[in-house]
Amino acid sequence: MSTNSVNASIITIGDELLIGQTIDTNSAFIAQELNKIGVWVRRRVAVGDVYDDIWNALDEEGAQSDIVIITGGLGPTADDITKPLLCNYFGGKLVLDEKVLAHVKYLFEQVFRRPGALLERNIKQAEVPDVCTVLHNARGTAPGMMFPPSGGGGALFFSLPGVPHEMKGLIKDEVIPRLLKEFELPTIIHRTAFTAGTGESILAELLTEFEKSLPESIKLAYLPNYGMVKLRLTARGNNKEEVEKELLPYFEKLQDLIKEYLVTNEDVGLEIVVGNLLKAKNKMMGTAESCTGGYIAHLITAVAGSSDYYKGSIISYANEVKENVLGVRRDTLSTVGAVSEETVKEMVAGAIKTLNVDYAVATSGIMGPGGGSEEKPVGTVWLAVGNHQKIETLKLNLRFDRQRNIGMTAANALNLLRKFIIANG
Ligand code: AMP
Ligand code: MG
Repeated sequence: MSTNSVNASIITIGDELLIGQTIDTNSAFIAQELNKIGVWVRRRVAVGDVYDDIWNALDEEGAQSDIVIITGGLGPTADDITKPLLCNYFGGKLVLDEKVLAHVKYLFEQVFRRPGALLERNIKQAEVPDVCTVLHNARGTAPGMMFPPSGGGGALFFSLPGVPHEMKGLIKDEVIPRLLKEFELPTIIHRTAFTAGTGESILAELLTEFEKSLPESIKLAYLPNYGMVKLRLTARGNNKEEVEKELLPYFEKLQDLIKEYLVTNEDVGLEIVVGNLLKAKNKMMGTAESCTGGYIAHLITAVAGSSDYYKGSIISYANEVKENVLGVRRDTLSTVGAVSEETVKEMVAGAIKTLNVDYAVATSGIMGPGGGSEEKPVGTVWLAVGNHQKIETLKLNLRFDRQRNIGMTAANALNLLRKFIIANG
């Protein structure tokens, strides 16, 4: 896919990235934004705060890519060396930029309200190489910089601060508009079908002939996550309408072939699919979460507007709460235990009543690493969903670690609820 396209490299700088202390979310964000405008990201490189390593990365990426975007190393502390390095690399000298200085002063005096005079190290943040174009960083003190194509490679370089929200502002307000002006870019369109209930191998079996029939300009990707699989078709071309027209029949065919497992033909999470179903029916839901500890509530409430269909959660982690708040019978807990079909059924009934909702979903399980027994090993999870008339249950036998088990439980609970709402109105 890299031929005949505008290529970019992303270089992220910082020791914290290399030791895994900070997860490099910057390059994922930048890659997504570049992909949207048709720039092909050919390489993402992480380097430490080490002069020669940064220099070599600039050499290598600049020689191969049309665009190089660098983040990090622009702070006011000694470990941040990107700016003087870029100044040397592009053969300039550091000069004080009055506009940036006024912005730094404004931030410290008016926004951060830091008492005392501006520190020398903060004044230095207003210094920029005289060979760059300054990109205004409305959210922070370190300006972005653009270096015009020079030398053998002829790539266009951007240097942005590492702080994610500052970097995002600069990408959207400064970098993307300049790239759109500077390059003639192809159209890239993605269409995603979201499936549940089977694995990627079965899907691949169903799609063997379909995959063979795809033209060179359309690619199919399988993206498994927490027991669900996203199928993404990507088409590229020069004209948006033509690309859409070419892609549509393939996307329809794809949905038809996997219709048994199709959850939605939009690239959204299950919590949004469930929310849309509830909104359309004008119904309310609630959750009773033991082993997921509020994670399902978090997923649902991360969606703006979820108050239209979501009332709340009872995080009944302790048996005492299951009994006292949800009304699970003591007898149930002492005979079959908290991780049982009977308990999650009573949790759902209790949640519907206590939260005064139309639908509820309940989880109870052993997430690990401890707490398992021969009868109920780690990964044993009971789920229940229901309304005023009916309750359904599902047992999961999960494996692996606690975090994954919680994610898998939440995804399965939301999918169970989705199917229940569809089947039971
Ligand atoms: P810097 O511009 O190097 O001073 O970075 C400032 C802060 O931004 C760092 O302490 C990190 O917490 C964060 N940061 C830097 N690079 C990244 C990255 N690639 N992804 C996410 N956060 C980052
Ligand atoms: Mg740093």
